[in-house]
Amino acid sequence: MTATTIPHWIGGTRQPGGGARSSDVFDPATGAVTGSVALASAAEVDAAVAVAQDAFETWRHVSLGRRAEVVFRFRELLVAHKDDVAAAITAEHGKVLSDAAGEVQRGIENVEFACGAPHLLKGALSHQVATGVDVSSILQPLGVVAGITPFNFPAMVPLWMFPNALVCGNSFILKPSEKDPSASLLLAELLAEAGLPDGVFNVVHGDKEAVDALLVNPAVQAVSFVGSTPIAKYIYETATGHAKRVQALGGAKNHMVVLPDADLDQAADAAVSAAYGSAGERCMAISVVVAVGDVADPLVAAITERAKAIRIGPGTDPRSEMGPLVTAAHRDKVAGYLPAATEAGARVVLDGRDQSFDGDGFFLGVSIIDDVTTDMTCYRDEIFGPVLGVVRVPDYESAVQLLRDNAFGNGTAIFTRDGGAARRFVDEVPVGMVGVNVPIPVPVAAFSFGGWGDSLFGDSHMYGPEGLHFYTRSKVVTTRWPDPATSSVDLGFPQNR
Ligand code: NAD
Repeated sequence: MTATTIPHWIGGTRQPGGGARSSDVFDPATGAVTGSVALASAAEVDAAVAVAQDAFETWRHVSLGRRAEVVFRFRELLVAHKDDVAAAITAEHGKVLSDAAGEVQRGIENVEFACGAPHLLKGALSHQVATGVDVSSILQPLGVVAGITPFNFPAMVPLWMFPNALVCGNSFILKPSEKDPSASLLLAELLAEAGLPDGVFNVVHGDKEAVDALLVNPAVQAVSFVGSTPIAKYIYETATGHAKRVQALGGAKNHMVVLPDADLDQAADAAVSAAYGSAGERCMAISVVVAVGDVADPLVAAITERAKAIRIGPGTDPRSEMGPLVTAAHRDKVAGYLPAATEAGARVVLDGRDQSFDGDGFFLGVSIIDDVTTDMTCYRDEIFGPVLGVVRVPDYESAVQLLRDNAFGNGTAIFTRDGGAARRFVDEVPVGMVGVNVPIPVPVAAFSFGGWGDSLFGDSHMYGPEGLHFYTRSKVVTTRWPDPATSSVDLGFPQNR
C-alpha cells in the first residue's frame, strides 16, 4: 500500500500543510505505515484560528433554526456514511469494525441532542419583577473554541464536542490524535456537505506544538480536552492561565465491584466485554475487578474461561472480537506490566504474551492478573490495554475504601442483586459515572459525561446539558418600560382613553 499524506481541513478545504514536520500513521493490524500526517506549526495553527474567527462573525448571526437544520442534515449524512467512518477508524486505530460502528453510533446520539438546540437554548424571562421591569437571560456563543482529542475514539470524542459547540454558534478547531487522524477529515467533509459555512469547522493535525499554540492564542475562548491525566492537567493549567474556559477529561482506573450475591454469569460476561473490548483502550474500560468475599474463586474461573475464548485478529475480519493495540510501543508497554506484576507477588493466571500472531501487527493476547494489591504498578497505573487485574477484598466496606483511595474517579460499577447495597454504593463512591449491573455506564447524550478526581480538570462535564453550558455564556437583560397606564402615547388601554 502506498502511504498517503493526510492534510488539514481549514476554511472548507483540504490543506496539505507546510510540510516541515509529519508523523507516520500505521495500520495496527499489519504494522505497515499507511499514511503520513502533517504536523502543524504554531504559525499554521494561528492562521487556522484567524479563519475560524472570521467565520464566527457570520455564523454567530445565523438563526438558531438554520444552525439546527445544518446539524440535522449532518446527522442524516453521518448515518448514511457510518460504515465509511467506521472503516477509517479501524484502519488506523485497529478496533474491530463492529466496535468502530458502535463508536460512530454513540457519536450520532450527540448530534441528535444538538438538533434540539432551539428548545435547549431557550433563555429565561421574569416578567414584571418591579413595576414595568422585566429581566431576561440569553445564551450567546463564545467565539472560536478548540477540541483536542485522544486516539481511542477518533470519531466519538470529537462528536462529544463539536455538534453542541457549532449549534450554539461557535466556530471550532479540532486537533485530533495524530495516531488516527483520518476519521476527522470525513466528519469535516460531511459537515461541509450538510451546508456548514467554510471556516466554521476546521481540523488542524499536530502534536504538542499545535496544542500549545491553541492554548495561548488569545482568540481561542475555550478548550475541550480528552486524553491522559498528565496532559489533561497540563492543558487545564496552561489554558486557564491564558484566561480560557477549560474542560479537560483525563485517564481512568475503573473498578467493577462484584458482591457475593451477584449473578456470576452476568458479572463474568460483563467483566470480559468491559475489560477487553477495543483491546482495553477505552477510558471507561474495566481494568480492576474487586471480588468481595467468596465470589473471588468462581468469578476468576468464569472470567478466565471466557477470556481464553476471545478471538483476536484484524479489525476488518468479521470473526475478530478484539483487534491489535494502537502502536508497537504501546503494545510493548502494556506487556511490560505482566512480568512486573509477577515480580511484585501477583499471580498472572492468563498471560497475553503466550499467544502468538502471524505478521507484524501490534497484537497482544488478553491477560488476567489475580491477587493484585494497591502498591503494584499494575494497580496504580492506567495500563490502557487488555489486562484485567483482580483485587480480592473481604467485604463491601473494603471495596468502597479502594475507590475512595484511588486518585481516578471516572467510572465504576457494582454487580449485586441487593438493591440496598447498590443504592448505598451509588451514594457513597467518589466517582462521576456509576453502573449498577452495567459495566460501562457511559451516559446517553441527554446527560453529561465526566469523572471526578484526576479524571476531570474543570467543572463542566462533556456533552449534554453541561456541554451546552460550556459552549455558551449567559447575558442577563434588565428592561424598564414606562407604565402603560401613564404613557403619553395612546396604546389603546382603557385608562388612556
Ligand atoms: P494523550 O494524552 O497522549 O493525547 C491526547 C491528545 O493530547 C492528543 O491529541 C495528543 O496529540 C495531545 N498531546 C499528547 N501529548 C501532548 C503534550 N505533551 N502536550 C500537548 N498535547 C499533547 O492520550 P491518548 O494516548 O491519545 O489517549 C488515551 C488516554 O485518553 C487515556 O489516558 C484515556 O483514559 C484517556 N481518555 C479519557 C477519556 C475520558 O472521557 N476521560 C476518554 C477517552 C480517552
